[in-house]
Amino acid sequence: MVATATIAPPKLTDQKMLIDGKFVDARSGKTFETINPATGDTICQIAEGDQADVDLAVQAARRALESKAWRNMAASHRGRLLYKLADLIEANAQELAALETLDNGKPINDSLHVDLPLIAAVYRYYAGWSDKIHGKTIPVTGPFIAYTRHEPVGVVGQIIPWNFPALMQAWKWGPALACGCTVVLKPAEQTPLTALRIGQLAMEAGFPEGVVNVVPGFGPTAGGAIARHGDIDKVAFTGSTVVGREIMKSAAETNLKRVSLELGGKSPNIIFADSDVEKAAKFAYNALFFNMGQCCCAGSRLLVEEKVHDEVVEILKTLAGKQQLGDPFDTKTTQGPQVSEEQFKTVLGYIEKGRQEGARCVTGGNKLDRAGYFVEPTVFDNVSDDMTIAREEIFGPVLSVMTFSGADEAIRRGNNSDYGLAAAVWTRDINKANRLAAGLKAGTVWINCYNVFDAAVPFGGFKMSGFGRELGEYALSSYTEVKAVVTALGK
Ligand code: NAP
Ligand code: MG
Repeated sequence: MVATATIAPPKLTDQKMLIDGKFVDARSGKTFETINPATGDTICQIAEGDQADVDLAVQAARRALESKAWRNMAASHRGRLLYKLADLIEANAQELAALETLDNGKPINDSLHVDLPLIAAVYRYYAGWSDKIHGKTIPVTGPFIAYTRHEPVGVVGQIIPWNFPALMQAWKWGPALACGCTVVLKPAEQTPLTALRIGQLAMEAGFPEGVVNVVPGFGPTAGGAIARHGDIDKVAFTGSTVVGREIMKSAAETNLKRVSLELGGKSPNIIFADSDVEKAAKFAYNALFFNMGQCCCAGSRLLVEEKVHDEVVEILKTLAGKQQLGDPFDTKTTQGPQVSEEQFKTVLGYIEKGRQEGARCVTGGNKLDRAGYFVEPTVFDNVSDDMTIAREEIFGPVLSVMTFSGADEAIRRGNNSDYGLAAAVWTRDINKANRLAAGLKAGTVWINCYNVFDAAVPFGGFKMSGFGRELGEYALSSYTEVKAVVTALGK
């Protein structure tokens, strides 16, 4: 994939937050800087939201929820607004891709040709759902008629991470708006730029004031205010397990708001000797190294059947050697920097830990000697299940290779994790593939593929990867309350 034209890093002025249809400063007047991870330089200042701003945003969202403009809007018209937003995103794709690359560091080809098309597709998918969300009529005993209404859950707080900033916003806004909710979104402190620009495009598309609000800021302050807020009906969170727990606690201690959590993983990618081994190894490389390893579903535990182990490791080494690290605005670049200095240090710490605990580093293992937060693609071999790098989510370009023999061991070892977000199986034996698909405890199982996403296919976790599903029809249940209405017939 090659970008059609060279896209330059945009020049930005300081950014305000979106509350009640207007771009405003923080009540406190505070700002924070957002950093270009490819250089470590400040891009611009961002209005820093906290409790006071979240309060205002929630009040605006509540007013919008109860306003005629939104509550009485025909469901089909909500759909049209979502289609319009998708069109505007597409029309401004180059600008949005540039903002994402500048803020997050992902290669421009990925922003433009992977993230942006998926974002538009998600908004269009949910645009189509808007007027197809409805209850049932239920036959009951006695002279009554019963039916259900699927009503919007209400004001929704959404807290998103930095790895796919605009795509995570789409996963959150698409179903929420299709269902008729109003939202207060907190983007990650590392990547607020696209959330604010898409907020502006939503206003341009014609969403009434207060339906979408974007409050950038820090986790414990702005994020915490959302999680604790007594007038937020539901909170949707994507990020770390540690913070996910905090969100649940806050919800439990305040108003029992509904909670959905997507908390990452340590996904097993299982290659059997009877697969197309070359293809499997190439996909295994991408399954981990795509997006600098910063994917919640990264195939970070590569389980390879013993007899094809050496062949797979050779292919991984060759591919690592071809990776083009550098300026993410250069269309030849395939790997940009890690998102932040903090993540960069964390990843280097895990590499150190891998070495200390006895894994064999077969390629990479170092930072680049240049500005920005670049880490070489790193492959560890001889990894055992109890090593830190096999247990904890690294969220960086570090792959752990392990060996196994036979389907029983593959299932047992594949499930040997606290997480359960995704898994993949590579084999030409359809029976074995389906046995593993049933045996692996994960929200997604890919068979002879990896990282295949579609707006229509649900995504979410088993075990400590969280609960609730995003995307597809399944996401709608996270944003609706079911109301039963029973009417007496006759006297
Ligand atoms: P994180 O702290 O969980 O951040 C995710 C979001 O939650 C951000 O918007 C963050 O705000 C916010 N947040 C943080 N503390 C909060 C609190 N007490 N209350 C409410 N919201 C809060 O994740 P991170 O620190 O960016 O990354 C750490 C690790 O999390 C990664 O290494 C990776 O393992 C995992 N992670 C998983 C995913 C995923 O897709 N599941 C995505 C990103 C990270 P700030 O903007 O201030 O951080
Ligand atoms: Mg954080």
